[in-house]
Amino acid sequence: MANFETVEVSTDLLIVGGGFGACGAAVEAAYWAKKNGLKVTIVDKAAMDRSGAVAMGLSAINQYVGVKDGDNTVEDYVRYVRQDLMGISREDLVYNIARHVDSTVHLFEKWGLKIWTDEEGKYVHEGRWQLMINGESYKIIIAEAAKNALADAGGEVYERVFITEPLVENNKVVGALGFSTRENKFYVFKAKAVIAGMGGAVHVFRPRSVGEGLGRSWYPPFNSGSSAYFTLRAGAEMTCQEVRFIPVRFKDGYGPVGAWFLLFKSRAISAQGGEYMAVRKDELQNWAPYGLAKPIPANLRNYLGMLDMDEGLGPLYMETSEAIAKIAEQYKEDPKAFKKKMKELESEAWEDFLDMTISQAILWASQNVKPEEKHSEIAACEPYFIGSHSGASGAWVSGPEDLDTPYKWGYANMTTVDGLFAVGDASGASSHKFSSGSHAEGRIAGKAAIKYIVEKGAAPAVDMAKVEELKARILAPLDLYEAHCNETTDPEVNTNYILPRQFMFRLQKIMDEYAGGVTSAFKTSKSLLERAMELFVFLREDSEKLGARDLYELERCWENIQRMWQGEVHVRTILFREETRWPGYYFRADTPKMDEANWHCFANCKWDPATGEWEMMKRDVWNIPGV
Ligand SMILES: Cc1cc2nc3c(=O)[nH]c(=O)nc-3n(C[C@H](O)[C@H](O)[C@H](O)COP(=O)(O)OP(=O)(O)OC[C@H]3O[C@@H](n4cnc5c(N)ncnc54)[C@H](O)[C@@H]3O)c2cc1C
Repeated sequence: MANFETVEVSTDLLIVGGGFGACGAAVEAAYWAKKNGLKVTIVDKAAMDRSGAVAMGLSAINQYVGVKDGDNTVEDYVRYVRQDLMGISREDLVYNIARHVDSTVHLFEKWGLKIWTDEEGKYVHEGRWQLMINGESYKIIIAEAAKNALADAGGEVYERVFITEPLVENNKVVGALGFSTRENKFYVFKAKAVIAGMGGAVHVFRPRSVGEGLGRSWYPPFNSGSSAYFTLRAGAEMTCQEVRFIPVRFKDGYGPVGAWFLLFKSRAISAQGGEYMAVRKDELQNWAPYGLAKPIPANLRNYLGMLDMDEGLGPLYMETSEAIAKIAEQYKEDPKAFKKKMKELESEAWEDFLDMTISQAILWASQNVKPEEKHSEIAACEPYFIGSHSGASGAWVSGPEDLDTPYKWGYANMTTVDGLFAVGDASGASSHKFSSGSHAEGRIAGKAAIKYIVEKGAAPAVDMAKVEELKARILAPLDLYEAHCNETTDPEVNTNYILPRQFMFRLQKIMDEYAGGVTSAFKTSKSLLERAMELFVFLREDSEKLGARDLYELERCWENIQRMWQGEVHVRTILFREETRWPGYYFRADTPKMDEANWHCFANCKWDPATGEWEMMKRDVWNIPGV
């Protein structure tokens, strides 16, 4: 076996991941841990200051309810999420996050985040729920607060440690395993409770950007399905694994469109000039009641644009110049004011990209795009797994303790595995929490996990013989490569191993062509999915033959194994749900209609670690009475 030092770390609470959910968990758990003499440890595969989906910064906080200003109620938010997810959401979780999110945003401001305010000192809204921010350093500010809280409570931070497996004994989590991405060190974390917050997944599907553009995507490439893998392998019940997210963004640079649609009130049109949201309005009848209520769900908005593409009306465009001209028009009587406003709008347009998707600004610059002069192409991206945004995939977690919800087995945000909690993209059916809501959910879970430890925490019984076995399995790609790399002149081609890059292409091809990716125009069917399952058998076999030249590739191997699990659970769940509920995210061509009578329910599943068997199940949707 490759020579890796084993490092054992004992803690009370282990937080895996260092993103928004994890940072929220760290802040809150540190506070309660200090009061109870407990230790909290956080472990991130990257450096927390710039890790996860917010690494590059953001230009808006997407969830702010505004209760103190009387702008909205928590119930309004529950209705909004129900509508956007075509009726399928865990309203208890959404409610719990919504009632805590404003205080999280106020903490962000206290920690130094610049939220835009108007002349009267009120927050500047991008849309009903979104606040504009100077967010280039958003992640640094949030990570700093988490690290400070941990330092104050005697906690520990491990960065550049990639977590692979959960440690579970008798359906109780007892820790996690991982390896350093910089040194030959294998980590054994022993804990009384674990919070999973390792984000969502990208590059499960073949991206639009291939060849010279490979690696570019809307979702940052760092998150590879570790949350889904970790919770699945622990034996946790999962939910909404069919609900992937497809954003429509500026094409190829993946730049955000929110500011254009919401702030600048821009229109999206086909190459023929038709505004698909208006031209195809009648199609929305087919998706009633959700298609007929406002706001129109994100997937249906995508779908209307996709219908234009199917009919050969593409490319689609964002009418940037028209939107800017409309806003500036109010100033046309005063040339000086007009010039000033145009300059301001132009800089806001560019700043939106520079805050969070610099590549789009570079692409615009390289193609001589002047948004005030000419429209820009938009397109539906490849599918992503991001349960905190407009997707919903994640673990099935317990509801808040004080709400009378049917989904409750003890502690808020605990999965069906004792002591294992999930937050952000790792927890399912509670979409639209975004950065602020994920942080709020982290705080909820952090507090609940400490309560769990105080009430039930037992010293973790870790079976070190099993750890040794897993260590050998985790490091196996290094050994396999070493044993066979000299058998061919080109080490990239070898009958005894497959390198992670090649493996990823194979996974992406299956997902793209059979599970409704970009090249199959987001359409799939039972037969296609069944064929995908046949191909997964071979892919799984080959995953045992992954080879790694170095530590860097060892990480790539495990990222791809995790992506494979995310891909498989997705295929299984689309196959299980025999209807099309979210056209615009995926379309099951053999069951092309929504079936409220049979499928107004959650599609859940579970992998049994003891037998390796999968179980698929339906769970009822519960609406908060009176909401
Ligand atoms: C392109 C894009 C634009 C967005 N725009 C907005 C916006 O404008 N406003 C808004 O409010 N929200 C926005 N969001 C949503 C927001 O970023 C997410 O909701 C939020 O980051 C989710 O938090 P999380 O903790 O689940 O995941 P993340 O914040 O992504 O954190 C995941 C963490 O897990 C770590 N990790 C991953 N795998 C491992 C592993 N194996 N071992 C150890 N650590 C691991 C990562 O390094 C990272 O620290 C956007 C998201 C994306 C992708």
